[in-house]
Amino acid sequence: MSNVTLSKVNKQYGAYHALRDVELEIATGDFVVMVGPSGCGKSTLLKTIAGLEAIGTGTIEIGGRNVTHLEPGERGIAMVFQSYALYPHMTVWENMAFGLRIMRRPRAEINAAVQRAAQILRIASLLQKKPGQLSGGQRQRVAIGRAITRQPEVFLFDEPLSNLDAALRTQMRVELASLHRTLGSTMIYVTHDQVEAMTMADQIVVLRAGEVEQVGRPLALYHNPRNRFVASFLGSPRMNFFEGIVANSDSTTVAVEIPGLERVAFSGVQVGHGLKSGDKVTIGVRPEHLRLNPEVGVCVQGELRLVEQLGRETVLYVQAGKLETVESDTGTTNVAVLVGHAAEFAGGSRGMSFGFNVEDAYLFDSGGVTVSAPKSISGMSA
Ligand code: ADP
Repeated sequence: MSNVTLSKVNKQYGAYHALRDVELEIATGDFVVMVGPSGCGKSTLLKTIAGLEAIGTGTIEIGGRNVTHLEPGERGIAMVFQSYALYPHMTVWENMAFGLRIMRRPRAEINAAVQRAAQILRIASLLQKKPGQLSGGQRQRVAIGRAITRQPEVFLFDEPLSNLDAALRTQMRVELASLHRTLGSTMIYVTHDQVEAMTMADQIVVLRAGEVEQVGRPLALYHNPRNRFVASFLGSPRMNFFEGIVANSDSTTVAVEIPGLERVAFSGVQVGHGLKSGDKVTIGVRPEHLRLNPEVGVCVQGELRLVEQLGRETVLYVQAGKLETVESDTGTTNVAVLVGHAAEFAGGSRGMSFGFNVEDAYLFDSGGVTVSAPKSISGMSA
């Protein structure tokens, strides 16, 4: 059953189109993560669901009710902000009780709701403290507790972990996932961090420039991105991209010339791909699918520029000689190669070879649309 439905939602700030024809169906009880680069409209979208921003056209339904023109307090939602937004002069108990007090709920009910939330979040010992006496992680727990006491139909989180240090963020990710299991409520969570999206979401919504690019389960999007943008946004290190030119094609196979290297054949491409000889394309290969000193497949000579030793695995950044790399969003043209174990590499630049099998590669047309995905996973649907 759909709990939150957005139909043709548009939002403009003056002439700037912040949300464009957004269509979204969020199922009851799902943990949905909206992800995308800074400025793509994530927060705006969350605020329109919350009722903190009015939309231009379209409708928003929550729990089967059209809430498009309702005030935030009438929508059955509770929002948790990155900035915590706690009242500094109130105790933790008062902060958490605030929403229910405004609703004039009986004292016993308020007390029970605050105690329950405090137990779930393990902050019962902090109830008489003021926010100024708490750490960042504790404050964020109180902000979440304040949302829980209101027993909303839908929780909205706006980058709630961004102000926490890395270790605490990882811990809070686990706690939020467990909170979601305990409460079973619908949760909509906004972040620019693809790791948070991949690790917490039942469904990921990828946004770009105010438009929904793709919606799906984390691994479905990871394996079957609809386009190059989604492919490059999910995964760390990001997918590597190389330029190619179509040599020839038919309905199921596209042969691609990799300039200065060799010709590879993508079989089982999308029906109606429309590629023809001479078209520019992009080949995408994830770092985990690049191998050192390959004996078969495409082999590239390069120069090792940087080694990232992460302990369990090692990432090599290689400047590829002949290969025309396509600049990623991060502005680097180095190729990332993931070595799945701890490995020592001598410092300084030195020559090396790496490569891939075309069966592990993606093919994108000049508009960035996915034309072919690796066979082993292409049966999965987003
Ligand atoms: P995100 O959360 O993805 O970083 P936002 O939703 O905050 O992005 O903003 C989307 C776009 O809308 C940005 O380009 C931003 O500058 C613009 N924007 C957001 N709020 C306003 C506002 N109140 N007035 C004008 N422009 C805004």
